[in-house]
Amino acid sequence: MPVATFVLPASLALQLLSGAAPAKPAAPAATAVSATGAKAAAPATGAKAAAPAYSQAVAEKLIGPALTEGQAYARLAELTDGIGPRLSGSEAAEAAVQWALRSFKADGVKAWTEPVKVPRWVRGEERGEVLASERTRGHPLSLLALGGSPPTAPEGLTAEVVEVTSLEELAALGGAVKGKIVFFNHTMSVAADYGRFAGLRGRGPAVAAKAGAVGALVRSLATASLRTPHTGSTRFEDGGPRIPAASIATEDADLLHRMLAGGAVRVKVVLGSSELPDADSHNVIAEVRGREKPQEIVLISAHLDSWDVGTGAHDDGAGVVMVMEAARLIAKLPQAPRRTVRVVLFMNEENGLRGARAYAEAHAAELPRHVAAMEMDAGGGRPLGVSLRAGAGGQELVRPWLKPLVALGAGTFSAREAGGADLSPMVSARVPFFGVEVDSSRYFDVHHTMADTLDKVDPQDLARSTAATAWATYALAEMPGLLVRPEPPPVPSGPPAVSPAKASGH
Ligand SMILES: [Zn+2]
Repeated sequence: MPVATFVLPASLALQLLSGAAPAKPAAPAATAVSATGAKAAAPATGAKAAAPAYSQAVAEKLIGPALTEGQAYARLAELTDGIGPRLSGSEAAEAAVQWALRSFKADGVKAWTEPVKVPRWVRGEERGEVLASERTRGHPLSLLALGGSPPTAPEGLTAEVVEVTSLEELAALGGAVKGKIVFFNHTMSVAADYGRFAGLRGRGPAVAAKAGAVGALVRSLATASLRTPHTGSTRFEDGGPRIPAASIATEDADLLHRMLAGGAVRVKVVLGSSELPDADSHNVIAEVRGREKPQEIVLISAHLDSWDVGTGAHDDGAGVVMVMEAARLIAKLPQAPRRTVRVVLFMNEENGLRGARAYAEAHAAELPRHVAAMEMDAGGGRPLGVSLRAGAGGQELVRPWLKPLVALGAGTFSAREAGGADLSPMVSARVPFFGVEVDSSRYFDVHHTMADTLDKVDPQDLARSTAATAWATYALAEMPGLLVRPEPPPVPSGPPAVSPAKASGH
């Protein structure tokens, strides 16, 4: 058996988590095992191992309860089953704000709200069909309006379909899409493809509208489907043309593709969505004040809003409960970490990033004292590693603190750079980012669908990622050195903002 300075009895803890034994006997057992491991470490290695950079007792106090108490999952049930879908501006979104405030207070963590004006897009009636022709008796389409889509006329929109697989292909068609419904098809098959094809949903309808199209259908950005369409936001330019836009299930995209190979296809779409006036909402902020350098802030975050379908269990309920639990466990430590740990539950990540911008504006003067920031927003999968976005020497600084993450499967650095949509307004302030990378290989099976519900989250995976989040947060707040701030983003030089090479990049 390998000798580690910190031996986390993960298998034992996870057995306990499954509910076989009450929580009470767990603590002594866990302590005894890790104490034995710790005692054995120095003699067994022969050479005098340097003392760990961190306190093993603290690591046990954070990781043990995260694995055994099931608090994150219980909270996730409150948020998803209790409150449900919580699109920005909805009553449920506000209920989630109040729930988060109450929960932080119950945990003994100081919390408050900060105002955010959010867009208020509301889904209405929606349906679509492939119209009958000499080649088919017709088919219903499984679709969801994209967030931001205008409605069709009450009688619906009927037009011929034109298929494209890229914005370049759309541009090449020129005026040929005039009066047509543009169907954006693609080949997403794994989670890593999301970034590659997300532009078809985000910008495709606006580009099609400018070219004279009357509607847009986008193949769901998905890694699996049981004929479940995946929604998401689409953006139109202020003052630019807007056309009704919906996502369709991948099965229906395949059907359209097959039918288009044989000739013209006409579809009818009815969307009853509406855009109401901006609504008052809130970010929820909570804080555990640092003992030595309270002015230095380690920010951990997730987004409280979700789409209006499903209950946002993976996106982003999982991230919300991970960072809430990290704060609860850190607040319970006998001694606070050196720096302040601040939790931000952002509002409106999904269709506007208004919460992210409101935070960055309200705290602009403080951003130079944000020494690290993280957003958990890739679902509730098991932890795989730690990511960073910092200046030179970041990994060397953090590495001695990773050992407690080894037993969780997250003790190494990910090749991916840390980041998060809600952190993007902090890039120009050169805030270093960190993250706990989670297994998101199945995340896009349910992302933005009716199927993103609590049953899709594995309690043990969630507990492990929560434990890793709590430890990584503590490490950044406690380690003596500071991450070097990353280089500022490149300033676009000269009038052509984007070079043709970049615009057509993979
Ligand atoms: Zn999200």
